[in-house]
Amino acid sequence: MLKRSQFKSEEAFIKVDFTSSLGHVGVPEDFGAQNSEEVVRVSTVVQNVRDDFHLRGRVSTVLNCACDRCLDEFPFQSRGEFEIWLATREDLVPMIDGPDDTRADEAVEKVTDDILAVDLTPHVYDAIMLSVPIKKLCREDCPGLWDRVDPEPEFEVPVPIESTDSPQEQLRKLKEALERGKKKKGRF
Ligand SMILES: [Zn+2]
Repeated sequence: MLKRSQFKSEEAFIKVDFTSSLGHVGVPEDFGAQNSEEVVRVSTVVQNVRDDFHLRGRVSTVLNCACDRCLDEFPFQSRGEFEIWLATREDLVPMIDGPDDTRADEAVEKVTDDILAVDLTPHVYDAIMLSVPIKKLCREDCPGLWDRVDPEPEFEVPVPIESTDSPQEQLRKLKEALERGKKKKGRF
């Protein structure tokens, strides 16, 4: 909440900082807000423009994201921004500095004399949601799952089976074994 007294001043620029939490801002758990107590830092600069105000906000927090390459969870440093125009006119027409002034294009909040505070929560929420890239990587050069595959097992040199049988004896045993195999087959 940005209180009226915090930005209504004669100063051209006013800096106002807040802290909140992921739970309070309402970031969903499956979006990385498993820890609802995680601190959300919001720093705003409010500029007086004619009778209105232009607010720029920076949002930073830590989300718990899954890497899109290796699937590991990692703390993602979320850094977002938002801009709002605080309009003092009843009809909300922003008192911008002319047709080239785009500062009121993002969002306009009403701050007529009866409004005591502006809720920045929806803007902070949007800034966090937009801060997460489509491809989330635990680190820039994450190799993905490829380095997870176990290294090639060491090649085992087959140990020759020592046999005390003479070559003839070995041949006889082999024939016997073949015969047994044939008989088995024959039963079906
Ligand atoms: Zn990764």
